[in-house]
Amino acid sequence: MASYRGHLMFSSVLGSAYGATGSWFLNLDWGPAMLGAGVATLGGLLPDLDSDSGVPVRELFGLAATIIPLLLLHRLRLLGFSVEQTIVLVALIYLFIRYGVANVFKRYTVHRGMFHSIPGMLIAGLGVYLVYNTSDEVVRWFVAGGVMLGFLSHLVLDELCSVDFMGAKIRLNKFAGSALKFWSPSAVATFFAYLLLFGLGAALWLHYAPPDDPFGPIFVRKLR
Ligand SMILES: [Zn+2]
Repeated sequence: MASYRGHLMFSSVLGSAYGATGSWFLNLDWGPAMLGAGVATLGGLLPDLDSDSGVPVRELFGLAATIIPLLLLHRLRLLGFSVEQTIVLVALIYLFIRYGVANVFKRYTVHRGMFHSIPGMLIAGLGVYLVYNTSDEVVRWFVAGGVMLGFLSHLVLDELCSVDFMGAKIRLNKFAGSALKFWSPSAVATFFAYLLLFGLGAALWLHYAPPDDPFGPIFVRKLR
């Protein structure tokens, strides 16, 4: 597997290209373009949240705990919370991710298990799409796409080789063939990953369905 540093270098180059593409082809402002570049860079580190040890992982959880409430800010304001209430909620979400989610990950995930997989990538992308509530759908998908692109770059790097950028040494990894996967040897982990993906997919469906007719014309007409 590639090192933390290797992933960071690769995904930051990829993220910069992604941001530049967004500003050039989608005419995005520097804000959304650089946000996309940043989340793509972070996406490249995200799968290694499942490794139990090391300063980078702790740092990564700190970063995730900071960025997720920031992405949620707009949504919290829309829900009508006051400034003070928003600050309290943001702090609570930070603590929940930094300590709660981090502990769950430490206890229940296996390094290079279901979090290093294609469903894992889709979960990260859909999660960011649903959390990051902006009225501009292009920007919303651009940011969600950035996370998935970074995540995918991580899986590909893990899959293919152990890259040592400092020594420019590339060799085939003994774990090759275990990162770009759709299921893991653990049936329980696979089941929970797909359950989560299904839940996020359903949330996305409801997001696009008309509010008075959430299940679309097919189901509702039958029920009536
Ligand atoms: Zn990895």
